[in-house]
Amino acid sequence: MEIAFVLFLGLVFGSFATALCWRVPREISWIGIKGDKDGRKSAARSLCPHCKNPLKAQDLIPFFSWVFLKGKCRHCSAAIDGRYPLIELFTALGCLGIYFVWGFTVPAFIIMAAVPLLVALFVIDLEYMILPNQLIFLAAALALIFIVYQALSNGFDAQILSKIAGMVVFALIVWGVGCIMGSILKKEALGMGDVKFFALSGLWLGLPYLPFFLIFSGLCGVALGLYYQFFLKKQVFPFGPALILSLYVCLLLQGLEIVPLIGVQ
Ligand SMILES: [Zn+2]
Repeated sequence: MEIAFVLFLGLVFGSFATALCWRVPREISWIGIKGDKDGRKSAARSLCPHCKNPLKAQDLIPFFSWVFLKGKCRHCSAAIDGRYPLIELFTALGCLGIYFVWGFTVPAFIIMAAVPLLVALFVIDLEYMILPNQLIFLAAALALIFIVYQALSNGFDAQILSKIAGMVVFALIVWGVGCIMGSILKKEALGMGDVKFFALSGLWLGLPYLPFFLIFSGLCGVALGLYYQFFLKKQVFPFGPALILSLYVCLLLQGLEIVPLIGVQ
């Protein structure tokens, strides 16, 4: 039952993530149904982009609608982008991973609420090479809720101090590394979005995770960079996906109370 509930919640969050992936880079409001500054309506995703027929409720069930419709619009049979069910599936699996490690607990649900934000940041950074502020700030707000919950249940302990220090130190270190790399490569090596994401990761994880986070995200970054260089023939690549994957892995390890390279928390 718990697994079914988490999967269902994950798919709903996944549907939210696909809405964020579509709306945030296009500056369309995702809260209300107000149009954005250019007057576009935020209901954009509920129409078939090909034939403009409105989608019915049964076409909007995350993941399953796409499978039942075999990836085609029910009106015009135009192919529906497979990325939407994929994003929904990945979000659901991400939530399931958190459940297996953190259990059916309040902290688990606070982290699960951050999963669609992380998935949206991942996709948007791959596509547009930006990490939008509003998503980073929302994820930071969840990290603060997590800290407040910790403080209420365990008291104000060293872990909380370590997270606040983590936010500052993570950001300073990557900013320093960015400056050094920038002066060697004579171009901007890391964007401000990356620095903000480091601060966010520090706030979620605390200082003990810094060495592992740096090494793991560095390795993922190198892998991503090589892929961009040799397969896509691009010199510039987004670093965000490596950081996001690293934060997610650290959150799993945190649930298991393992701090790699240091030992048990
Ligand atoms: Zn259609």
